[in-house]
Amino acid sequence: MSYHVNEKGFYGNFGGAFIPEMLYPNVEELRQNYLKISAEPSFQEEFKYLLKDYVGRPTPLYFAERLSKEYNTKVYLKREDLCHTGAHKVNNTIGQILMAKKLGKTRIIAETGAGQHGVATATVCALMGLECIVYMGEVDIKRQAPNVARMKMLGAEVRPATSGSKTLKDATNEAIRDWINNPENTYYIIGSVVGPHPYPDMVARFQAVISEEIKQQLLEKEGRENPDYVVACVGGGSNAAGTFYHFLDDHEVKIIAVEAAGLGVDSGESAATSALGKIGVIHGSKTLLMQSADGQITEPYSISAGLDYPGVGPMHAHLFETKRADFIAITDEDAMNWGIKLSKTEGIIPAIETAHAFAVLDKMKFKPEDIVVINLSGRGDKDLNTYIDYFKL
Ligand SMILES: *Cc1c(COP(=O)(O)O)cnc(C)c1O
Repeated sequence: MSYHVNEKGFYGNFGGAFIPEMLYPNVEELRQNYLKISAEPSFQEEFKYLLKDYVGRPTPLYFAERLSKEYNTKVYLKREDLCHTGAHKVNNTIGQILMAKKLGKTRIIAETGAGQHGVATATVCALMGLECIVYMGEVDIKRQAPNVARMKMLGAEVRPATSGSKTLKDATNEAIRDWINNPENTYYIIGSVVGPHPYPDMVARFQAVISEEIKQQLLEKEGRENPDYVVACVGGGSNAAGTFYHFLDDHEVKIIAVEAAGLGVDSGESAATSALGKIGVIHGSKTLLMQSADGQITEPYSISAGLDYPGVGPMHAHLFETKRADFIAITDEDAMNWGIKLSKTEGIIPAIETAHAFAVLDKMKFKPEDIVVINLSGRGDKDLNTYIDYFKL
């Protein structure tokens, strides 16, 4: 069984490139070049250099002593919260901006929901001195004012999407329209392991630095490369893909993917795609998708903006179908409580997305000798207002 993409762009039954004909030349150009370019020594050199001196990699693998005592197992935290801009997303945008430059592109577009991917994209465009246009739903622009301000400070133009529900999917439609109209000079940076092939595979490879480092760091700390468990939260699935990547074929490593249950999987207000989704096509990819009986995409809900996505990347749909990964859904309430718990136990305020992953410690039983690596995908600064409102801090 392969858990990696095949030459047609599929992970088992999922993936592919279901795109309008007008988009074909852009996607095909990328498909034909992404592996060749990313294998070039000059690409690898610059990618590694920027991850080190700009992003701050390798991020530490931190042994969480107090959590380990409390749960009577060995808990390690992979500190992606310490990346420049506060989360793992920048690993991917660094990789893609270098790809864009190698392809001779001069104009960058992206779409963003909560603004985190928009900020990570605006950051690398500033770094490279490239024009940056970020599409964002009008409603999200109002809800996410600090990230809009960040993008503007970084020199990006934030263009409101005013159609439909004026949120992420409408911003995505606008970005795709832009790309169709500007095929020559424009590169579209997608923010997770979603979208048409080759995006899911390309983004997974850029994020795979996370598991590459975990292996080296565990070898140094524990004398073995493989933990017993790797745990990560899943929105589109990029931090999880990076955390799982180099363990996919090591079957002694159990993989736990954590989705957002929102108010509860059966409440009608949820984003637990593996539990609720059926096969469908979103953003050019065949995957599991939350949809109505007649195939309309249903609105997801989670208190964390980064997990509030109606699908998962095709790699995760395949990991779910083949049972290579266990999928667990965690409610808003459990995640929010873990935001406080991690803060008070380890002195680390996590992003709310990340807090979902920690709740696994309460849902599963681990042995004292087990090594459990939890990917700490991001820090909680961006979520402070949500924490304040929720807990009346
Ligand atoms: C965006 C985000 C996520 C969700 O995105 P993935 O592509 O699933 O990783 C998770 N955690 C943090 C901190 C984020 O910013």
